[in-house]
Amino acid sequence: MKAKKKQSIHKCTCATCRHHPKSAVAKEHSAINRVLAVLHEKGRRRVVGLLALPWGRGGLTQLSKITGLSRPTIRRGRDEVQKVERATERVRVRRAGAGRPLTEKNSRVC
Ligand SMILES: [Zn+2]
Repeated sequence: MKAKKKQSIHKCTCATCRHHPKSAVAKEHSAINRVLAVLHEKGRRRVVGLLALPWGRGGLTQLSKITGLSRPTIRRGRDEVQKVERATERVRVRRAGAGRPLTEKNSRVC
């Protein structure tokens, strides 16, 4: 079995963190990234989407710099946080049918 690659913690690239790495804002960004590092992709997307709710224009770009997630991913997370989820979707990390096909179905050997 292949060992799971350990996910590294993203380092914020915002101007405040670059110029004042020991500031309160930099510590807050670092804390956000430490929390995100332990979540699965759905949780990570939704936490950042929740953080994006109060931000106005330019918020997605700023959060993208802080977290390293792309703007479409943050936008999707923001939309997911605002809608009610069905019980079956709540359990799954990815949509049904997502991901690589099972090897039994993908076998080309006859
Ligand atoms: Zn920062």
